Amino acid sequence: MDRPEIAITPPIRTLQHLTCIVPVYNEAENLPQFIPQLITECKKFAQKIDVIVIDDGSSDNTVQVLKELQKEYALTALIFSRNFGKEAALTAGLSRVDPQSDATLLLDADFQHPLACIGSFVEQWQQGYEMVYGVRLHRKDRPIMLRMLSTFFYKLIDRITPIEIPHDAGDFRLLDRDVVLALNQLTERERFMKGLYAWVGFSKTAIAYVPEERQQGQSSWGLKKLIDLAITGITSFSNLPLRMWSVIGAVISTLSLLYALMIVLDTLIYGVDLPGYATITVAITFLGGIQLLSIGILGEYIARIFTEVKQRPPYIISRVLTSEQSK
Ligand code: UDP
Ligand code: MG
Repeated sequence: MDRPEIAITPPIRTLQHLTCIVPVYNEAENLPQFIPQLITECKKFAQKIDVIVIDDGSSDNTVQVLKELQKEYALTALIFSRNFGKEAALTAGLSRVDPQSDATLLLDADFQHPLACIGSFVEQWQQGYEMVYGVRLHRKDRPIMLRMLSTFFYKLIDRITPIEIPHDAGDFRLLDRDVVLALNQLTERERFMKGLYAWVGFSKTAIAYVPEERQQGQSSWGLKKLIDLAITGITSFSNLPLRMWSVIGAVISTLSLLYALMIVLDTLIYGVDLPGYATITVAITFLGGIQLLSIGILGEYIARIFTEVKQRPPYIISRVLTSEQSK
């Protein structure tokens, strides 16, 4: 839950050092325009700018493009050994932020997060907010089915978890140094970033933006990836799916006890009747289904415990390229 609003007075702090974290996966076509524009925009607001680009195992020539860009622009490129996903890429970027950096901006490389919004983000940060996040005004770039599923997911997560995840807010965020420190303390491997931003707390404010069309390439988030992310979100922040089986079990047991009582009375009053074949079949299949479902949900949590206890790092960086090396 957000902290109560703080008194807004003229800028409380000034931005000296800004870090930008850009996760990229097959963005070779966008990067040559994106990086220069990003740096030009950020220079309006801070004197020192660090740009950390994470190549999330791209299969196009993103790495080559990054090396070319490094000849001209100061940027650090973390090259993953394979595709680990955007959440892992953001985690890697955050762990490399210079502790001296006043604030850190997370944004996509496909121009869907308008660079023109950076100014308003910084303004809010200067007013004292520790986290400024972008909220999409509409999401026409996704099929209606996906949009409906995502609305359902947010409603569900609102109800069953103690954290409040703002709808339509993504990873387009400006984080204060303290927030970055807090996020870096979280060691879980299955990282549902939207949940973690909410979980760490701090004072937050939203900036509405209209996502632009993806300039080149296409979104790499299919239905399966989104469902996986939704399950990670729910299982990382709620125990309700585990607990509800106790309630369902109690209800079914009570009903069956009542039914047993009814049969006893029925037998005592009317004598032995031929037992209902249909009732038995329905009871067996219904309970069988419920049991399998509950085992499946248990399995989801066990799988996540398994992932955590293995203690594998969430990503592997195969190379770190700095501008000095490329020159
Ligand atoms: N991305 C990534 N790893 C992935 C998928 C995407 O780092 O496995 C990056 C991608 O290059 C882009 C950002 O994450 O900078 C958002 O991805 P995309 O545009 O595909 O998603 P959408 O805009 O549809 O949410
Ligand atoms: Mg995009």
